[in-house]
Amino acid sequence: MSAAVATPAPLDVERIRADFPILSQRINGHPLAYLDNGASSQRPRAVIDAERRYAEEMHANVHRGVHTLSQRATDAFEAARERVRRFVNARSTREIIFTRGTTESINLVAHSFVRPRVRAGDEILITHLEHHANIVPWQLACEATGAVLRVAPIDERGAVDAAELAGLISERTRLVAVAHVSNALGTVLPVRDIIARAHARGVPVLVDGAQAAPHLALDLQALDADFYAFSGHKVYGPDGIGVLYGREALLESMPPWQGGGDMILAVRFDGTTYNQLPFKFEAGTPHISGAVGLAAALDYVSALGLERIAAWEHQLLEYATERLSAIDGLRIIGTARDKASLVSFVVAGVHPHDLGTILDQQGIAIRTGHHCAMPAIERFGVPATARASFAFYNTRAEIDRLAAAVESARAMFR
Ligand code: PMP
Repeated sequence: MSAAVATPAPLDVERIRADFPILSQRINGHPLAYLDNGASSQRPRAVIDAERRYAEEMHANVHRGVHTLSQRATDAFEAARERVRRFVNARSTREIIFTRGTTESINLVAHSFVRPRVRAGDEILITHLEHHANIVPWQLACEATGAVLRVAPIDERGAVDAAELAGLISERTRLVAVAHVSNALGTVLPVRDIIARAHARGVPVLVDGAQAAPHLALDLQALDADFYAFSGHKVYGPDGIGVLYGREALLESMPPWQGGGDMILAVRFDGTTYNQLPFKFEAGTPHISGAVGLAAALDYVSALGLERIAAWEHQLLEYATERLSAIDGLRIIGTARDKASLVSFVVAGVHPHDLGTILDQQGIAIRTGHHCAMPAIERFGVPATARASFAFYNTRAEIDRLAAAVESARAMFR
């Protein structure tokens, strides 16, 4: 009906903050302003409680026992898989593989999908802004096979042009691997368009969703990605757990990566029969409590609503951009039109590491360095940046503190 009906109610940020025990701490005598969510976000009490309850009432090994606790653990673990399936709107839980995180998910694809398929001279296409986790596994695969890594450019704002990227797809391209959101620049990539163009050429696409899953509503059926990776610890869940979504037909066609228990149906010395999906790719005892915690985290963010989260974070991004741009000598690195929830910047005369240390003295946590995306940062002629990355529990007041602290650091070095 009216536009007002479609506009989600704003988040009650103060009430939400009370759900995150860590946020009420003081650091170096100041209230914590946690602005390093791109590296790892904090866990709500619901996640901490779910992990504790699992440990106190359910823990045993999964999939193997007939006793009650093993059944409980298996039920909890498989319910978590179903929770992830719903969160990303995959067709089937057979397409949801638990891993240690985005890095392991991408390595799994590099080993099981790419290496067996590529020959010398074949190509893997990435972009200039990728995290090292979406560069190095492909470099290793190229070294092992003689394949070639090709890199689509980014422009001076840090944006990727889908048509330009598609122009680099050749007869030899075997995979396109792109970030959904850049962790160093904040750019939201036109992944839907990239996927459509790659598919038109018959090329599958892996999307590194580490920075997207916490901020954007995901619908992998609509997106049509072939592989999609993300990490629990960036989506308000535990560390050490992550997800690889894979299109079922592709996963079926791939050999296992790691061998061991759980990924087999029968083992004989003259040959082993692998388990069905998704277990074929989950060798050994998985991070059961991590999966349970991740499911609780997805419940939590889904209850808040990804649309409401995105709306508030967009306001924070605009406010931070405005406040920081007003600081003399400050340059924002990454100014794409479509950005998510972080600002990377350099300040004339102040090394990012010094800035990070000065801010920490005031209880403000930001990240400094190359953010595991050295090519992206170096593209802008700087070796490092400071990065403030926002979550739905951040406030304008925290951004005011950030801006004031950056101003005073600049004054110190003048
Ligand atoms: N890709 C991107 C875009 C990231 O931001 C990160 C984490 N900084 C990763 C991959 C790697 O994630 P993890 O360390 O959780 O495996």
